[in-house]
Amino acid sequence: MGSWRRGVADRVRRFLQKPGSIDLAASEALLPRIGDREDALRALTDTELTARAGALRSRDDPASDDWLVELCALGREAAWRALGERPYDVQLLGTVQLLAGRVVEMATGEGKTLTGALAAAGHAMRGHQVHVMSVNDYLAGRDAAWMRPVFELLGVGVAAIGQTSTGDERREAYRAEVTYVPVTEVGFDVLRDRLVVSADDVVVPPPAVAIVDEADAVLIDEARVPLVLAGATARGEGNVVLAAAVRAMRSGEHYEVDDEGRNVAFTPAGIAEVEGALGIDDLFAADRFPLLAAANTALHAHVLVRRDVDYVVRDGKVQLVAESRGRIAILQRWPDGLQAAVETKEGLDTSESGEVLDTITVRALLRRYPTVCGMTGTAVAVGEQLKEFYDLDVAVVPPNVPCVRLDEEDRIHATLADKEEAIVATIAEVHGTGRPVLVGTDSVAESERIARLLDRAGLGCVVLNAKNDAEEADVIADAGTYGAITVSTQMAGRGTDIKLGGRDGADRDRVAGLGGLYVVATRRHSSSRLDAQLRGRAGRQGDPGGSVLFASLEDELVTRNVQDPDPPVAAHVVAHAQRVAEGVHQEIHRTTFTYNRVLEGQRSAVLERRDAVLRTDAAAKGLAASCRDRYAELAGTVGEATLTGVCRQIVLYHLDRMWVDHLAYLGDLREGIHLRALGKENPLDAYNGEAIRIFEEALAQVDDRAAETFLAATVTADGADLGAIGLKRPTATWTYLVGDNPFGSELDRAMDAVVGRLRRRRRA
Ligand code: ADP
Ligand code: MG
Repeated sequence: MGSWRRGVADRVRRFLQKPGSIDLAASEALLPRIGDREDALRALTDTELTARAGALRSRDDPASDDWLVELCALGREAAWRALGERPYDVQLLGTVQLLAGRVVEMATGEGKTLTGALAAAGHAMRGHQVHVMSVNDYLAGRDAAWMRPVFELLGVGVAAIGQTSTGDERREAYRAEVTYVPVTEVGFDVLRDRLVVSADDVVVPPPAVAIVDEADAVLIDEARVPLVLAGATARGEGNVVLAAAVRAMRSGEHYEVDDEGRNVAFTPAGIAEVEGALGIDDLFAADRFPLLAAANTALHAHVLVRRDVDYVVRDGKVQLVAESRGRIAILQRWPDGLQAAVETKEGLDTSESGEVLDTITVRALLRRYPTVCGMTGTAVAVGEQLKEFYDLDVAVVPPNVPCVRLDEEDRIHATLADKEEAIVATIAEVHGTGRPVLVGTDSVAESERIARLLDRAGLGCVVLNAKNDAEEADVIADAGTYGAITVSTQMAGRGTDIKLGGRDGADRDRVAGLGGLYVVATRRHSSSRLDAQLRGRAGRQGDPGGSVLFASLEDELVTRNVQDPDPPVAAHVVAHAQRVAEGVHQEIHRTTFTYNRVLEGQRSAVLERRDAVLRTDAAAKGLAASCRDRYAELAGTVGEATLTGVCRQIVLYHLDRMWVDHLAYLGDLREGIHLRALGKENPLDAYNGEAIRIFEEALAQVDDRAAETFLAATVTADGADLGAIGLKRPTATWTYLVGDNPFGSELDRAMDAVVGRLRRRRRA
């Protein structure tokens, strides 16, 4: 045991030389002490073990070495009893680092799931609720179920959330001490919570600790991806009436179009027509602004948006013609219910296209947590960015058994055709021995092309393309089987362990004798981390394994990032292209971060205000001050309690409405600024200045509008029917992810196309 332990210590020390990572010496010093408790803990009954874990909760030294030693010793014993797996020293080092709030780099197959679970238990015993965030539903569910027996022995409650979880299930799951949840689902829940009108309906508890699995993918690669909450506005028949009214109008008489054909406005005669059609007397009355906006949108749809130029009608749906730039670019998002107005114009059923109610980026979501930590196979490469954007440090934990994988020299070809021919020849040769081959591609299209080429060469293979996480995990678990050829895109099966000889390891020795799993990368990726992740699928836990990376001077990476690829220095060219791409990506990240910072600040300001309105009688106090007589009168007729509720509804409505309008405005502003950027003005300063000015104005207006509504609304003992005066909350909401960055270069958009999967679903 002694010399083995010294072996670990040596390797730890070697790893310490890696620049930019945390010194593990102090954590390492705990290992012998943890080991010393093992025999005593082994002698306890399960009940005694759980009781002893419970005792950790009431100690007043949860940051001390003593406490950490006890936690790790208990965690090791619990894992041994529950899973038959005794956490290695390196895993406990990882756990200690996660408890210190670091991003831990541990190679694929080192057992990060268990490492993270023990850290989650530790954070929970320190009294904090923990969200273990995974990249998808499948992994959240799998990890929670897998680790549950360990948590139970430690007396820690655990739950999981997935896309299909109901509201009640989510609320229940978030009450658990440890909740496994896909990062996108927490985001959507946080977004939905910002619409509740009663404090009892809030689903997500105040954020405390986030443990992020695949931390580089989540914290860096997907950090800019906005999660969006959209809502169907109650448009109803009003739109049909408005569409009919504007259809009968004449240019010059009822409306005027400006010279450039960019704007249209009603004349007084046009307004009179609208009022007549709606049967109202004053379209400009303060509480009618939704109707006024709808009328303007209907006019816009009728006059400015042209069928077969700006949009086409296909399969009973209106589709924006994306190719045309200029005027239509302003309408990319179909603001203000324009889509619905155009659909009404075309006599189609109005689709679910509503308006954006709120958005949050993954980064902003994570920044809410006082403690963030995480684990991944590739953290050092993004160490600088983790520090810059999250103030996180990286701790590099060495592998349990040194990695003996053989990474061959890159094989670089002049043309794509040559490269693919060589790939197939290599696979054929390796497969000929029975050695399993895992082919990693960059896209679904490439996977399919490679599969066709293999098929033509008489080689059968299994193709995975990131469509169904659970099924793919199942298939990839067998990628180490004798004779298997598996073709997979980057994300497919991430998080799934590949054991030699198949998942039961039956054939392990034969496959190990052939050299283990052989990984073939069909290109260099835009980030060297992705290359490392792929190679890491082979040679896990000291297994034999190999990898080779193919590239060609015709690869997109090269053609996009290098001017004149020069064949004699091909290897250099490809590496250079990758560095350029990484630099571009980091710069984009920094830019969006800077733009989003203002938005994030404003969002928190609004939410803070909203929370106060939701949980206190701030709204009633405000309106009592601004509309003293009205308040006194209503307090007399309906009573204070009802009135307090009414005030809350009114202020919440206007606060939410303001935010929706503000978001749309900022969106327009960004597009405008983007255009101005071409004219070399400093777009960021211009954007910030305007965004701050308009926000203060909008925030101030909330009180005015609330007061107007308070004066106009009919209030009875049942409350106020705000819908009757046109103040309707969304009838339905739905959530999705977008990969659209208005500041992005072509490259950024291309990257986003890979990362951003549009996932959309309705929630009534
Ligand atoms: P990672 O996320 O680091 O790639 P996983 O958490 O998926 O790795 O674990 C990989 C495999 O290692 C799993 O099959 C798991 O059961 C196994 N494993 C983890 N820790 C241990 C251990 N201490 N002893 C034996 N097997 C372990
Ligand atoms: Mg994992």
